[in-house]
Amino acid sequence: MNIHEYQSKAILRGYGVNVPDGGAAFTVDEAVKQAQTLGADVTVVKAQIHAGGRGKAGGVKLARNLNEVRQYAEELLGKTLVTHQTGPEGKVVKRLLIEAGSNIKKEYYLSFVGDRKGACVVMMGSEEGGVEIEKVAAETPEKIFKEYIDPAIGLAPFQATRMAYKMNFPKEVIRKVTKLMINLHRAFVKKDCSLAEINPLVLTEENDIIALDAKLNFDDSALYRHPDVESLRDETEEDSKELHAAKLGLNYVNLGGNVACMVNGAGLAMATVDILKHFGGEPANFLDVGGDSTPEKIAEAFKIMLDGGQAKGIFVNIFGGINKCDLVAQGIVDAAKIISPDGKSLPVPVVVRLEGTNVERGREILKESPIANVIMAETMEGGAEKIVQLVKQGA
Ligand code: GDP
Ligand code: MN
Repeated sequence: MNIHEYQSKAILRGYGVNVPDGGAAFTVDEAVKQAQTLGADVTVVKAQIHAGGRGKAGGVKLARNLNEVRQYAEELLGKTLVTHQTGPEGKVVKRLLIEAGSNIKKEYYLSFVGDRKGACVVMMGSEEGGVEIEKVAAETPEKIFKEYIDPAIGLAPFQATRMAYKMNFPKEVIRKVTKLMINLHRAFVKKDCSLAEINPLVLTEENDIIALDAKLNFDDSALYRHPDVESLRDETEEDSKELHAAKLGLNYVNLGGNVACMVNGAGLAMATVDILKHFGGEPANFLDVGGDSTPEKIAEAFKIMLDGGQAKGIFVNIFGGINKCDLVAQGIVDAAKIISPDGKSLPVPVVVRLEGTNVERGREILKESPIANVIMAETMEGGAEKIVQLVKQGA
């Protein structure tokens, strides 16, 4: 789960991480009032959306007086911001963060994230802050430093010091930096975060160390332990298909592409996404329909995949164990009845690979059905290649 920057900063403040003074505003008047209370020489007006890259997209404004605060708030509230992280459709700004401006001397990068290979949390730091870290990682990976954190010991002070020196902080602020690292790590662990990213972490002209931006992501599986975090959920920022699928009990993740897939079992679903990519397709989603899928559930899954015209083709990849192939086949036939008025066609080509329990009956159901654009595949590879090809032809 993702939250807004102002919410992340409020959490971090509680753990002793130095963040600018400020708070959220939902209206122009609230923004001006906030700025008045702050009384800073420079007030930063920041668009709050669940995406980064706002600076470059004009979502971060520096106001010198209350009139400018009003002007920027009017400009940003209700505006659709398109950043490199929002996708071309952008995100509508509904909230602002109004905070005291900082005199930036230099911008750094600092984050904590789970490292799968190391099976531990890794702290990453770089002198190259304020820019897209993915770019630094791709072009100059030697400029990103890492400290792997032993889960039994936690972030050792010597690791924080070593990182602060590698990041090239001036000597006189090293203590402030290590203190911030240790506090940020404590917040990361205590709140069951999956990511804590400060970009930029800034050194100011006054030699202060401040988290100027803050992004916290939370482990969904641990949310039950954090009702306070759960209450910060902003559903309007989340993918509407994912929300809908979650309510139906479907494990669905929107991946943004146009080749959809419906699979049973999380492992097979991941392998299916991989194989679609392997054959040059852009997977639209990860979808595990589970082992107990009823025809109704499958029809719902079809609707979600097709919603908004996202899927240009669907690959159904079922290995029937607990799931019965005949029920899945019936689900596809029922889905066609619900989706298309004549029940004889689906809006996009569907390639089906069925294997396992009741497979003969399943194949028969599909063969006997009046749906025109369902194609049977013998193997997973063959099916994946076929659907990618069909989507490319259709485009
Ligand atoms: P992002 O672009 O969405 O990651 O938003 P950030 O919070 O990182 O802000 C983008 C950029 O705005 C930063 O890298 C800074 O250069 C600039 N910025 C943000 N706050 C301040 C501030 O208080 N003073 C100054 N001078 N610049 C700021
Ligand atoms: Mn940033």
